[in-house]
Amino acid sequence: EPPLLELRDLKVHFPIKSGLLFDRTVGYVYAVDGVSLSIRKGETYGLVGESGCGKSTLGRGLLRLVEPTDGEIVFAGTDLRALSGETMRRTRRRIQMIFQDPMSSLDPRQSVESLLVEGLKAHGLAKDKAAVDKRLRETLAAVGLPASALSRYPHEFSGGQRQRIGIARALVLDPDLIVADEPVSALDVSIQAQVLNLLEELQNRLGLTYLIIAHDLAVVRHIADTVGVMYLGGLVEEAGSEELYRTPLHPYTRALMSAVPVPDPTVEDRRERILLAGDLPSPANPPSGCRFHTRCPWAQPTRCRDERPALREVAGGHRVACHFAEEIEEGRIRPHEVKA
Ligand code: SF4
Ligand code: MG
Repeated sequence: EPPLLELRDLKVHFPIKSGLLFDRTVGYVYAVDGVSLSIRKGETYGLVGESGCGKSTLGRGLLRLVEPTDGEIVFAGTDLRALSGETMRRTRRRIQMIFQDPMSSLDPRQSVESLLVEGLKAHGLAKDKAAVDKRLRETLAAVGLPASALSRYPHEFSGGQRQRIGIARALVLDPDLIVADEPVSALDVSIQAQVLNLLEELQNRLGLTYLIIAHDLAVVRHIADTVGVMYLGGLVEEAGSEELYRTPLHPYTRALMSAVPVPDPTVEDRRERILLAGDLPSPANPPSGCRFHTRCPWAQPTRCRDERPALREVAGGHRVACHFAEEIEEGRIRPHEVKA
């Protein structure tokens, strides 16, 4: 079966304008710079990376909420970039987004009913009042909210309940794919688990496919089937979730993992501690060669600086963009000291 979504060498570059005398373009921000990945129907793909790595732009780019510069977005067999405005608008019903902060993505002056009906109206699905009422009630029940929520307003709900409203707003349109951008990072840890469990339950019941974007590796660990790690606009590693957490191969992924706090303080933490030199470089001026070479503790002279590593398969379904992944894994290349 072909994947539900396939990104082929997707690029989203933003022009930086000087804006003074002429609208002269002075350069580009290479927010997403050649990402290829595919997501099967019913799969959960977790996309992780620090803020500024391009993961949110990728999520918005695949819906063409920001226009990609190059590449293909093949959704259910059709390249979305080839669709006209009207066809794209109709296709958007099938791909819904959930955002980080439910309060800022929900209009506080709109009742829950009006928030949910809005999308139905936009897609011409609000013609039959009785059918709409039934749909709203079903959708609220699916996210664990009572029908009485319809006449209430977002501020009357807790953060976790508001995120349920955000999920209901996506769900009411009966989508195939849900792109969730940091869906739980604004919530308390105890509430995070509830919302992630709800997403999983809805997936199992409705056959949904998810792209979950998060800066926190721990958030996607249990919910994702496949995890992709982004750094400065590119995918540096991708593997099945268990495989990635057990055997991270890319130096950047190793560094991210070494920063994840250990849940049980009584258990001795034997993992390597990896310190990265410097800050995330600007995506307007990315380093040459391997974009991670300015911070990589294993960087090797000339090749890492000069040659951009391709994302290559090193084991079944495990892809990594590092020239020296095997040598590092086998300890044949030692990390240099990094001053904190
Ligand atoms: Fe580090 Fe070189 Fe691998 Fe890039 S290619 S991650 S700089 S070792
Ligand atoms: Mg799942």
